[in-house]
Amino acid sequence: MNLKMPALVVACTLVLSACGGNNQSENAPAPGATAPMPAATAPAMPMTAAPATTATAGPAAMPGTAGTSAMASETMASNGKPAATINNCSTEIEASDAMQYNVGSIVVPSSCTNFKITLKHTGKLPVASMGHDVVITKQSDMQAVDQESAAAGLDNGYIKADDSRVIAHTKLIGGGETASVSFPVSKIKDGGPFVFFCSFPGHSALMHGPISVQ
Ligand code: ZN
Repeated sequence: MNLKMPALVVACTLVLSACGGNNQSENAPAPGATAPMPAATAPAMPMTAAPATTATAGPAAMPGTAGTSAMASETMASNGKPAATINNCSTEIEASDAMQYNVGSIVVPSSCTNFKITLKHTGKLPVASMGHDVVITKQSDMQAVDQESAAAGLDNGYIKADDSRVIAHTKLIGGGETASVSFPVSKIKDGGPFVFFCSFPGHSALMHGPISVQ
C-alpha cells in the first residue's frame, strides 16, 4: 500500500479538484463537479486518476495501473508482452529486426530439471547490425554484465568469456538464424530475481524480461 502513496500524491497534484472533492465530500461539494451524483462516488475523471482515487476510497476496483506499478518495483516489468509458451520444459521465443522479443517473461515449471530456450531471429538484418541472443543473469547483475558484454565485442558475440554471472546464454545470431541453450533449472531457483536479455549493445533496454521458476 505504501507504494501507492507517491502515485496518489502525483494524481492529486494533477487532478487537484477531483481528489480534493473526494477527500472533503462530507463537508463540501466537489469543486467543479457538474455531474448530478454525490462527490463521494467519484465523478468521471481521466483514467490516470481513477486508480489512486479508488485506493483512497476502499478496495481497488480498477484493474491494472496501480497494481502493475507496484509490481514493477519488485520484479522487472514484462513490457506488457505475453509470457513465453512452455512445451516439455522448453520454449521458443522470437526476436525481430525491430529490436524486440515477442515475449515479455518466461516462467519455468518447477517440475523441470533442465530447461531449453530456443531463440529464432525472424528478421533479415545481419548479426553485426541487429544481432540477438538470450543471456540469463540475476537481475542485479544485468547492468554490469550488459556493459561488459558490449566491451567484449562482436567477435566474442558480445559475451565476456568465463563470466560466472552469466547463468546461460545462446550464441549471438542474425536474421533467419536460430540458436538454443539448455541449463539446469536449479540455477535459477534461488537467489533471484533473474532476467533474460539481449547482450547486443543497446538492446537490453527493450529486450529484457523476468525469468522465474514456478
Ligand atoms: Zn539484440
